Amino acid sequence: MQQICVLGSTGSIGKSTLDVIARNSDRYHVRSLVAGKNHQLMLEQVRQFRPEIAVMADTAAADKLRLAVKNEKLKTEVLSGAHEIALAAAESAVDTVMAAIVGAAGLLPTLAAVKAGKKVLLANKEALVMTGSLFMESVKQSGAVLLPIDSEHNAIFQCMPRNYGEGLGKVGVRRILLTASGGPFRETPIDVFPEITPAQACAHPNWSMGRKISVDSATMMNKGLEFIEACWLFGAKSSQVEVVIHPQSIIHSLVDYADGSVLAQMGNPDMRTPIAHALAWPERIDSGVAPLALADIGHLDFYEPCMRRYQCLRLATEAASAGGTAAAMLNAANEEAVDAFLVKHLRFDKIAEVVDFTLQSLPVARADSVDQVLDVDRQARILAKQQIHRLSHIA
Ligand code: NDP
Repeated sequence: MQQICVLGSTGSIGKSTLDVIARNSDRYHVRSLVAGKNHQLMLEQVRQFRPEIAVMADTAAADKLRLAVKNEKLKTEVLSGAHEIALAAAESAVDTVMAAIVGAAGLLPTLAAVKAGKKVLLANKEALVMTGSLFMESVKQSGAVLLPIDSEHNAIFQCMPRNYGEGLGKVGVRRILLTASGGPFRETPIDVFPEITPAQACAHPNWSMGRKISVDSATMMNKGLEFIEACWLFGAKSSQVEVVIHPQSIIHSLVDYADGSVLAQMGNPDMRTPIAHALAWPERIDSGVAPLALADIGHLDFYEPCMRRYQCLRLATEAASAGGTAAAMLNAANEEAVDAFLVKHLRFDKIAEVVDFTLQSLPVARADSVDQVLDVDRQARILAKQQIHRLSHIA
């Protein structure tokens, strides 16, 4: 029985993970559940999965959950706060950690799981984007097994030779082709971007996801973060990763080999496939995903992304080339801009402007420690918030 800790259990990835676990309850036991504020859904999850531990980041939410757990005579211990979250992720009784907290809040617990040498299923791409080489060095030192959950990176992992860690050139890999749906505004005239609402941005044509990643998909900052993530996960140079728009989201990414062979991984756009793949790897288990009906899909399209439409993608690829702390700044400014957009304090078309301003305003340094990265994250957020304030007054 594998003991699982789910970080971000009340979110989109967390719920899909628990769905796959419920289908395979002979193999997996939920040892601990971690979330932010949603104590009502956490209570339902505690009733169903009976974990030993449930941790809420928010103290008031934890108090409400504790009372409900006590009233129902459930045995789960309820804890709260960032420190307890990191402890749950690193606990010796845990074998596998699903890292699915959204944004920079996921960094420290994900790193705690990595440092404790767990099997880490990485959905929280922001953690890797922020700390890059420090993160990968910790994986190497602790012997943690890092498996990508992002459907694209999971696809690349499935198409790579097992020994890709020796270097892409050595194992005959020429390029990684990262597919992107293009989001909900792939064909929307650019002059309409200022009017785009949060509800429109969160309505992704192919995937059902949390609000932050949905906005990132609409700006294609998500693909930018994935570009950086792919470089770190697979030891690729920026020049070895290409983004291609594929509106149907059936091919989840491809690996191009020196002999001209191109391997692709396909499947319905349902996150339970990469989650089940990573949970069971190197075996295969049922995920609940319907079989792919190729004849119904009919045709698959591909084309190059337009960088004028997707300014955030351009900024992310530039940050990848700049290296050091640039990606942490990009991520922090983007998180602030997306939050402001979601509460209607910032226009959709200004998200890239806030990120660009922040990157222009701070010097890029080498990322020598996690504390230094967290300091850069703080500075970038202050600058981004100031710019958001200025832009919200102009609008
Ligand atoms: P959601 O917004 O749906 O869920 C986020 C989860 O994080 C919730 O459980 C939330 O708890 C929890 N959370 C937020 N802040 C904290 C905190 N400070 N401490 C502890 N928990 C916290 O996001 P998604 O599931 O969509 O995405 C999660 C991660 O997975 C992101 O990094 C995203 O980029 C990545 N990802 C998501 C995909 C998807 O299809 N959704 C695909 C690939 C990657 P609560 O709601 O209770 O406050």
